[in-house]
Amino acid sequence: MKLIFERSTQGAGASTQYLPSCDVPEVRLSGKMRSRQLRLPSLPEVEVDRHYSELARNAHGVNDGFYPLGSCTMKYNPAVNEDAAALPGFTKIHPLQDDETKKGCIKLADELKKYLCEITGMDAMTLQPAAGAHGEFTGLLLIKAYHRSKGDLKRTKIIVPDSAHGTNPASASMAGFEVVSIPSDENGCVDLAALKAAVGEDTAGLMLTNPNTVGLFDPNILEITGIVHEAGGLCYYDGANLNAVMGIARPGDMGFDVVHLNLHKTFATPHGGGGPGSGPSGCKEFLRPFLPDTDDPMSIGAVRSFSGNFLVAVKAYAYLISIGAEGVPEAAKGAVLNANYMKTKLADLYPMAYDTVCMHEFVMSLEKMKHEIGVSALDVAKAMLDHGIHPPTMYFPLIVHEALMVEPTETETKETLDEAVQLLRDIHAAAYADPEKMHQLPLHTTVGRLDEVGAARNPVIRYEFEA
Ligand SMILES: *Cc1c(COP(=O)(O)O)cnc(C)c1O
Repeated sequence: MKLIFERSTQGAGASTQYLPSCDVPEVRLSGKMRSRQLRLPSLPEVEVDRHYSELARNAHGVNDGFYPLGSCTMKYNPAVNEDAAALPGFTKIHPLQDDETKKGCIKLADELKKYLCEITGMDAMTLQPAAGAHGEFTGLLLIKAYHRSKGDLKRTKIIVPDSAHGTNPASASMAGFEVVSIPSDENGCVDLAALKAAVGEDTAGLMLTNPNTVGLFDPNILEITGIVHEAGGLCYYDGANLNAVMGIARPGDMGFDVVHLNLHKTFATPHGGGGPGSGPSGCKEFLRPFLPDTDDPMSIGAVRSFSGNFLVAVKAYAYLISIGAEGVPEAAKGAVLNANYMKTKLADLYPMAYDTVCMHEFVMSLEKMKHEIGVSALDVAKAMLDHGIHPPTMYFPLIVHEALMVEPTETETKETLDEAVQLLRDIHAAAYADPEKMHQLPLHTTVGRLDEVGAARNPVIRYEFEA
């Protein structure tokens, strides 16, 4: 498809003759500003409309089809939450307004924090962080400030299992910690012996996702958090996978001291296009003085202006009050049921990385297929694109070779899951019938097989005008 600049023809733009005449004095721009020519594409309005409609058609969202992107919780987010967030009482406020004039917004934020504390088993929460990774960074600063407040400066290391999301070691490193990676055991969970060997007087804390990135709930969770506490460290819970356990099990009860949540995964803000997210950080009572938005002298200070992405908080609040206290665990159970349903229906053809009951997502390993016929996880993912299904997450977590990680979410019907299962089964048969053809796919998308390395290494992000 053409860029809007390529569709432009000189003089084809909308006429300016119907614009009202200028009613302010004309100002001549100074030399430096004038020398920069602003080149706008010139198209009739209908062409602009068609251009953007075409762009929208070429993108895949959860409103276009199944989107089982593991670790991302791409569930359907009810449109009513968007309506709530569009109310002028929420959109037309300014953070510097007198508190008296925005009491409703303050109340909403306070109630949301209360609900999120209840769901996570934490005592205090900040809505400032703008994303999960930002929440991690904030939580790690809390851990750092806590050790400092006790004069314990030798705790410089954060332990992170090798199955962790890449943001975990990155955030730990940004917060000034040294990252100690520990291996997973043969069940994909924390290797207790490795953890025991890793903890010590220099341990600031452990970062853990539970259920973890292979979709398994760690059965030793109490022992794990106990080992870290025993050594004087704190436990950080990456809440990106909360969708599997919300309303059923609480990180606070598992022994965690600090958490972050991804409102844009679990609590009804659409994501994937890089729009505003929210990654609230929660903590136990003893860490409250360090939170970014307290007046306490021990506060780590603001991590973002004002109260974060407030409209995302409005959507989370609308979602929670619409599904209610019963709806929260129902959603989690649906997510787990759907994942296990698909996993069971695929396991005879696609070997599972861990062959146990999973939580909200499961990881298949296509190593055997790759070895036997040279068809990779990437080839299978591309084949799915031809059928209007977004592929699962590929090649993550890194500890599973030729991984495809499927997270159906609770909002999909049995019919949709059955169709996706049938498609994956058909793709398996097609791959064994004609392996070579698999490398050519997709054939029915706007663009075919891309040079992904080239696109990542030499991205073209700027339009160059002809001289
Ligand atoms: C998505 C995710 C994150 C990071 O969250 P962002 O909101 O994308 O910054 C961290 N950990 C896990 C397990 C995730 O899935």
